[in-house]
Amino acid sequence: MLVKIYHLNCGTLSPLYPRLHSIVYCLLVETDDGLVLVDTGFGVQDYVKPTRMMDIFLKLMGVPCNVEETAIYQVEALGCDPQDVRHIVFTHLHLDHAGGMRDFPNANIHIFKGEFESAMSPRGLVERGCDSAHWAHNPKWVLHDRVDGEWFGFPRLRVLGGNTPDIYLIPLPGHTRGHCGVAIASDHGWLFNCGDAASPFHKEVDPHGYPRDMQPLNILPGWVSRRLIGPHVPDLRRLIQEHGDEVNMFSSHDVYSFEKNLEREITSPLVEV
Ligand SMILES: [Zn+2]
Repeated sequence: MLVKIYHLNCGTLSPLYPRLHSIVYCLLVETDDGLVLVDTGFGVQDYVKPTRMMDIFLKLMGVPCNVEETAIYQVEALGCDPQDVRHIVFTHLHLDHAGGMRDFPNANIHIFKGEFESAMSPRGLVERGCDSAHWAHNPKWVLHDRVDGEWFGFPRLRVLGGNTPDIYLIPLPGHTRGHCGVAIASDHGWLFNCGDAASPFHKEVDPHGYPRDMQPLNILPGWVSRRLIGPHVPDLRRLIQEHGDEVNMFSSHDVYSFEKNLEREITSPLVEV
């Protein structure tokens, strides 16, 4: 049996400087155990009644504040019931990734334990990029801290399996202490959202790819980029060079992959128990 995976942009980013167009890349997976969201982008309350911090962020990043881009609106537009969103898996809890959490108050919130700790007790400027209003409703946290194997040489933590596609958290600490990628088994191999751990490598794998200004992290000097996203770029580049036929990797703000993946239907096999 195959399950459908939808690719969603849950927040357009169009800052005036640096002048670029970006997105918040989220996934919606249909499973026998309800719907699973991977990251949520901005939520309805972020647009209707933003906190001061969110308001500043939305203005700086030129977010159009279009409720039609929120995950809950898109779930409904697909003909699904938001109550059926049973699980949300987060790469990390920064305000541009986790705002939609409150629109699904009954969902299980799956997160790497280290990311929960960095969000609740942030150290340094980057970890302070969360908005605690996003979890003021006291969501059902499901904290994962048990590495149960390897995924292409990276430690993996199983989030969901059995009657859902295999979904793993892949710790990629650096951007925040608990930042993770999320790997999902699909019938085209693996879909891998590496979160904010890398900018896309399209210029290397596709010389006719998007121009430089479409790739936010590529316009930053290397040392700034490493401070912001962590040290994993060489390992992720190697993953794509060696296993690009098995792993469809994208990052959270990766317009190029989003547009490419929208063009083809991606489904995932259910794992039999
Ligand atoms: Zn982030």
